[in-house]
Amino acid sequence: MIEEKLQRKLKNAMLLVICMILVFFTCGGLLSVYLQKAKNDAVKNQIVAEAEEYKSRVKKQLEADFQILSTLSVFITENNTADRESLARALKEANQNNHFVTLVFYDRSGMGVIASADQEPRADAALSELSPEGRRVVEEALKGNISVSQLFESDISDTQVFVYSVPVYDGDELIGALAASDNIEIFSDILSGNTVLSGGGYIHMLNSEGVFLIRSPKMIVQEDIPSIFDGPYLSDSSRDRVQSALSNQERIFSSFSYEGNTYPFLLEPVGVNNWYLFCVNTGEGLMAGSSTAALVSQVTLGAVLLAVITLMLWGYRLLQSYNQELIRLAYHDSLTGAENLVRFRQRLAETLGRTEGSVTAVCVRQFAFINEIFGKEKADQLLVQMKIAAESHLEQDEFFCRDGEDRFYLFMKDRDQEMIRRRLSDFMDEIQQNSEISHTNYQLAIHCGVALSDDRSNPDKAGEGLLTSVQFALDKARQSHTSSIWFFDAELHKKEELENYVESHMHQALRDGEFKLFLQPKKDLKSGMLCGAEALVRWSTGSGRMIFPDQFIPLFERNGFCVQLDLYMVEQACRQIRSWMEGGITPVPISVNQSKLLFFEEDYVGKLTELVKKYHIPPRFITLEILEGLALENVEELNAKILQLQGEGFKISLDDFGSGFSSLNTLGKLKIDELKLDRDFLMSASDQKEGRVRLIMEEIIRMAGRLGISTVAEGVEITEDEELLLSIGCDVGQGYLYSKPISAEEFDEKYMSTPGSRGIDTGKE
Ligand code: C2E
Ligand code: CA
Ligand code: CA
Repeated sequence: MIEEKLQRKLKNAMLLVICMILVFFTCGGLLSVYLQKAKNDAVKNQIVAEAEEYKSRVKKQLEADFQILSTLSVFITENNTADRESLARALKEANQNNHFVTLVFYDRSGMGVIASADQEPRADAALSELSPEGRRVVEEALKGNISVSQLFESDISDTQVFVYSVPVYDGDELIGALAASDNIEIFSDILSGNTVLSGGGYIHMLNSEGVFLIRSPKMIVQEDIPSIFDGPYLSDSSRDRVQSALSNQERIFSSFSYEGNTYPFLLEPVGVNNWYLFCVNTGEGLMAGSSTAALVSQVTLGAVLLAVITLMLWGYRLLQSYNQELIRLAYHDSLTGAENLVRFRQRLAETLGRTEGSVTAVCVRQFAFINEIFGKEKADQLLVQMKIAAESHLEQDEFFCRDGEDRFYLFMKDRDQEMIRRRLSDFMDEIQQNSEISHTNYQLAIHCGVALSDDRSNPDKAGEGLLTSVQFALDKARQSHTSSIWFFDAELHKKEELENYVESHMHQALRDGEFKLFLQPKKDLKSGMLCGAEALVRWSTGSGRMIFPDQFIPLFERNGFCVQLDLYMVEQACRQIRSWMEGGITPVPISVNQSKLLFFEEDYVGKLTELVKKYHIPPRFITLEILEGLALENVEELNAKILQLQGEGFKISLDDFGSGFSSLNTLGKLKIDELKLDRDFLMSASDQKEGRVRLIMEEIIRMAGRLGISTVAEGVEITEDEELLLSIGCDVGQGYLYSKPISAEEFDEKYMSTPGSRGIDTGKE
């Protein structure tokens, strides 16, 4: 029971631990997902902000360049544009203070000058000589618009350049176009700084085909590739999405992989010439700090989780060992380490379900004295010796326990009494040999009470039953002064049980009227009429069980309760006679059995006369049946009592004549009114009808007749008995042939209800 409970608790605790771990993991997971998302969002926002910043720097650079061009255009109008030679030189001079690769001016006729940083200025350049990109920009300016070209390979400088152009006015009149070409590298300074994403990122500039215009030196991908679509770095889906974003001038977030790592990037349209900023976060910059924070928080969470799990596992282990300790305490005896009775009961129930055997209860004679005389330590030692002896004498599948003090229980598979006796003797010998106490003058005695199992149908009950039986056997064994072994005897036990019930309930039964008056008719053999009845007691218990006099009268004779019961029965007889008289029915005498004790009870005669007076009945209706044994001690005293009773009007009958030490001698001396021949007499007489017994009977009857004593034969069971009795002159018959003892009510109905006709039929109805 306890074990099951604890196991259940442990299981619940385990479940709780698992649930908590799950909750922790889920929370941890959610938190890290949240942190990751927050981090990603932060990185995205950061990249976008940076991209915007760089975009505006690029635009500012372009604006500044246009500003320079505009300023230069003013300077041109101040010169004579017709003098191309000097204009060319002036332009070259002007450009020395600027970074442009080439400066060109074309008038409306399409003729112009070219001033390159490292070449001689030309004064005769035709617009048609210009590269198509340059020409388109110039033509745009000649129409009055400013514009920037795409990158192209310059014929003049042999580098990748782009061209911007502004219209030149003289007053309100458009006189030409000023254009400057520049290396794309002018933006590198802007883009290749170490400040992109706090140093944790870099920016390339791309055109709408994904071709690098400027590649930052801080790039991740080290391979020399012309465009972002070269190489295996973009996944197929990213590639498609990026391509469509590029063609639609849209911002897009995506990622590429390089050497096992994934890098998020942003493609941001610059807003000039389909240029794009390609911003990459390497994860080492600004957000590296926040990602460190996330990492720290994740590690902390993990550590907490680990601590919690460790703590829980530790708790679980602790609980488990505590559980084991509890089980040990629950099932073991702390002194000897043997199992206790709780465990023994369980094992016994389990075992008896499979096999049979015997249980022995063992105790030490006068253990309390041993404790007192030898001290607790020695007494404890003895108990430990007993435990060791039990261990060494039991075989496989046998077990034992100690149940407090000096009580041990053993289960053995044997059911053979001799075998058990032998094994227990060995067991007791070992205790005797090993115990210090028995090496003194003290006579150490051990008692064993044994009960054998017999009921396999209900193991639980069988186990408990055995434990109860074994106590009775041990009680018997303890009655001996030396070591003893006693086997439980079911028959004996039943008898003792009944005796115990009788003794413990007799007073209450008398009080509650459980003793009932039963009557057995007596038949006058000559007339065939009812001539009396014998009062026989029946004990009808509260539970409806009927107990017969043989089961309690001998005990009552020993414990003296007969005195009360017999007087009670005399009173019941008086009451019955009274009721007949009151009913106008002529009573028949009732014989009441009187025990020896009562007969010599002080004021016995007085008590009897008091009773007959109380019920106003003539004492001659009461016959007192006494036993012959009374006469053995003192015939004179007995005769005196008989005379006294007869003087009061009672009749005296000598019961059970012929069953004991009956002698005709006694009969001659006693002044009795009636002689009851014992049932044994009739039995042996009818066995050998013409034999000696019959002769003796006949002689007794004749002699009684001569002494004026009427004779009653008990135990008339068959008509032959009656015939025999008639033939030998017996006066009265009593027995089952006429009727068994019946309740007073039944007797009334059967014999007393029709006045005048009290014939007794033979033959049982
Ligand atoms: P008992 O006085 O010899 O009573 C006769 C017993 O023989 C009765 O047994 C009766 O039932 C039984 N009996 C009668 N006819 C026959 C028969 O034809 N065949 C056989 N086999 N038995 C027959 P019961 O009633 O069981 O009483 C047993 C004994 O208990 C009595 O023997 C008597 O000694 C004693 N007893 C009964 N009631 C009282 C009582 O109130 N006081 C005292 N002191 N003893 C009583
Ligand atoms: Ca009797
Ligand atoms: Ca009798």
